[in-house]
Amino acid sequence: MDAPHRIDSPNYDPRPIDVRFLVLHYTAVDRVRTLEIFTDPARKAAAHLVVDVDGTIYECVPCWEGTALRGWHAGVSRWRDGQTLWEGLNDWSIGVELVNFNGNLFPFSEAQYAALEAIVAHLRRCYPALDDANAVLGHEQIAGFRGKADPGWRFDWPHFFAACYPGQIAPSRPPACPATLRDALASLAEFAPVEPDAANAFWERVSLLTETAVALAHGDDL
Ligand SMILES: [Zn+2]
Repeated sequence: MDAPHRIDSPNYDPRPIDVRFLVLHYTAVDRVRTLEIFTDPARKAAAHLVVDVDGTIYECVPCWEGTALRGWHAGVSRWRDGQTLWEGLNDWSIGVELVNFNGNLFPFSEAQYAALEAIVAHLRRCYPALDDANAVLGHEQIAGFRGKADPGWRFDWPHFFAACYPGQIAPSRPPACPATLRDALASLAEFAPVEPDAANAFWERVSLLTETAVALAHGDDL
């Protein structure tokens, strides 16, 4: 496949990491706003890759050429893998953001699943740990305790694992957002503005409010 479109972001540490995991997110804003945030030094956030709704891939933090630098996408996070407790997943993972206003409400596109398939196939050649389906996590699995709820209910993990890891047992990736909260959020969708700036502001706020509620639901985890 073609190399991703390269975006110059200041939001990463220019040191290589030992890649053990791939972490999936949704953006909560559109592609234009996502790339604005990921290139704004004040926001201190950037994932390695962004996948637009049409499947176009952008590289904001280097990883594609085989040396992944330390992106700022996971934040305070932990993952228990057997006896090993991994903490601070920015040190151990490549982050992929899927453009979607809210992955607990809106489906991801087939073009995004196809792009993910291409991304996984490419990255596995560079980072052998990613040969194992268990290496793919959602942000909500590693930071649900502080309210992260992405990629969310609408991300089709069985579809993703079947396409990217045929023959491997699909790991369980339960959503962090309680179903009652998801249903309450769905009732907000009819009030969402259409104009892009207003829609971005609306859904970014919904996402922040959701984090507060999900953190309360998961405060005792781990
Ligand atoms: Zn995230």
